[in-house]
Amino acid sequence: MKQQQIKNILNAGIIGDALGVPVEFSQRDTYFIDEMTGDGTWDQPAGSWSDDSSMTLALVKNLTEDGDYQDLMIKFASYVYDGKYTPGGEPFDIGNTTNQAVQNYERHDFAPLECGLDDEKANGNGAIMRLAPLAIELLNQADLDTRFGMIMEYTSLTHRHPRAIVGSLIYVEILRELMMGSELADALMKVQDELTNSSLDQLYLNEFKYYERIFDGGFKDLPADEIKSTGYVVDTLEAAIWVLFNHSDFEEAVIAAVNLGDDTDTIASIVGAMVASQTPEIKIPIKWSSKIINRALINEIIDPFAAKYGESA
Ligand SMILES: [Mg+2]
Repeated sequence: MKQQQIKNILNAGIIGDALGVPVEFSQRDTYFIDEMTGDGTWDQPAGSWSDDSSMTLALVKNLTEDGDYQDLMIKFASYVYDGKYTPGGEPFDIGNTTNQAVQNYERHDFAPLECGLDDEKANGNGAIMRLAPLAIELLNQADLDTRFGMIMEYTSLTHRHPRAIVGSLIYVEILRELMMGSELADALMKVQDELTNSSLDQLYLNEFKYYERIFDGGFKDLPADEIKSTGYVVDTLEAAIWVLFNHSDFEEAVIAAVNLGDDTDTIASIVGAMVASQTPEIKIPIKWSSKIINRALINEIIDPFAAKYGESA
């Protein structure tokens, strides 16, 4: 993959996040967003990006530096406690599960892979929202078990319930297929096949049923009111894939995602990363990218990652 596409994938996610921040938790059809605005839910200036991007940037830096899981937990903690990896020096939107996992590491001395919550209620989208860089790291990893093992571990740092883990397996594997040039429908078939025929423990295979709808041929034609857009990992993944089936243009897709309501920033961030993964020559509108706050920090973290994993020019 070209260095530019790696930058595009990460920047597209950040733009989706920033577009969605002012309307996070808003009810669908009570607003319409098609530009970078401020204020709203978090009372932040236009171009502010949230935890989705902060946690992603922490992972980008960890992968660039070949850091271990402990290194990544320290980076997550420096985000939560010190406002590192933020547009304005202060975090304003941290998921509960992530927050508790970081506390498990910092205050209770848990081993990194034991920090994540394994409660059924802890199945939010806080892991998938940060995992696009892992798909880039795993792009050339042909061994399925190695990929699954890494996706499971990187998820477990914050989310240890098998449903969240299976959500990450589906999401990262789809991203990887899109990066390799598969159409979305083919990517889904391939991933369904991989997962159901894998040597995964029954504990995980049992969770697959929660994700069944996205693999159904009729899924893309469901009406919008069948698509929830909450922060529950299953709803988030459904919403993102449904949007992607119905909009392949970056601008159209993120606008559709942001206007689904509820967990707008995370869904638009994931949609942005997915569109940029399947579109090598994507054009990211300057009207949006120019409004992103603290571009210097973003480039400082993303550029060496793109140089490490991408081909130049
Ligand atoms: Mg957020």
